[in-house]
Amino acid sequence: MTDNRMTASPIPFLDLKAQQRRIAADLRARIDRVLEHCQFILGPEVAELETALAQFCGANHCVTISSGTDAIQIAMMAEDIGPGDAVFLPAFTYTATAEVPLVLGATPVFVDVDPRTFQINPDHLASRIAETRAKTKLTPKMVIGVDLFGQPADWPAISAIAAREGLFTLDDCAQSYGATHHGVPLGTQADATIASFFPSKSLGAYGDGGAIFTQSAEKAELYRSLRTHGEGKTRYEVLRTGMNGRMDTMQAAVLLSKLTVFADELKARERIAQTYERRLGNAVVTPTRVPDSTSAWAVYSILLPDAAARDRMQAGLKSAGVPSAVYYPKPLHHQPAYRPTHDGAALPVSEDLATRIMALPIHPDLTDHDLDRICTAVLANV
Ligand SMILES: *Cc1c(COP(=O)(O)O)cnc(C)c1O
Repeated sequence: MTDNRMTASPIPFLDLKAQQRRIAADLRARIDRVLEHCQFILGPEVAELETALAQFCGANHCVTISSGTDAIQIAMMAEDIGPGDAVFLPAFTYTATAEVPLVLGATPVFVDVDPRTFQINPDHLASRIAETRAKTKLTPKMVIGVDLFGQPADWPAISAIAAREGLFTLDDCAQSYGATHHGVPLGTQADATIASFFPSKSLGAYGDGGAIFTQSAEKAELYRSLRTHGEGKTRYEVLRTGMNGRMDTMQAAVLLSKLTVFADELKARERIAQTYERRLGNAVVTPTRVPDSTSAWAVYSILLPDAAARDRMQAGLKSAGVPSAVYYPKPLHHQPAYRPTHDGAALPVSEDLATRIMALPIHPDLTDHDLDRICTAVLANV
């Protein structure tokens, strides 16, 4: 007799090879075209991709960038963010969101998140802005809302606060390109929106990549200048301090190919999320959906009762060949890199989530068989 548990091979957390097999012919053709024309920087695929990405999310302009992090940096450089400026952002997010303000000499001010949707808490944002004005010499300049795990942040509420306070809104949509809120794709909710095409994101390149979306032609031109060393109308006219922040043509070709299946992949991710909800919803805390939205499901995070229960769950899943991950094991204000700039405010929700959140695999090539194995293993370990 064979024991299924022993012979079943481990399930990959993300299966990029299966996706590659689905798009192989189109992908090869596009890569071959780049090899033929040899315009590896700002080749025709880059402009083609910018048009396609802008169209997909309904933005007027898209400027592709070398990575999501560089996209945040260029969007912030365009607003002259620097020393003395306060940039408000959630404590429960990927490090890149907080890193860029510090790189530019500005001060990140951490805001707590909603305990159910994990998105930045607008009420806490308002009180952190008031606190910063009352107790520090910093000038509130910008709020970076993060659309965490695939779902939208509460942009109507964030934008209302930002308008009242005179802050620029930057949407860190690195995890959620493809999601919608009130029927509108993310990309135009904030003054500027950034995306990331890191390979594990819901739309991923075969290397680093990113983009900035804006409704303003002037801002798009400024972003283009900043991504190429601050150049003006000609290559040898330098108008401002910029950086080398272009996406290369090969990545644009890969993304064009992946865009042909992206809408279907979003549907496949949604089907998996629905199965998790149906099968696991009574045993663990499944993600609360942001009302009137669709998710890009970059990450599917459940909540366990406490850290010990999470440890037991991860160990049990591992022995069943089921991978899991923790986004994020530490809120940013507890990271050694950010602790020194943190004002000491308590951020209890972010701190609590870090102890008991856990992500399950969610990618478009997850088979029904593997999905069943994952659900069975989770239920066996609660
Ligand atoms: C991935 C990510 C980034 C950075 O994107 P890169 O392309 O890896 O530089 C920024 N913010 C969030 C929330 C992310 O998840």
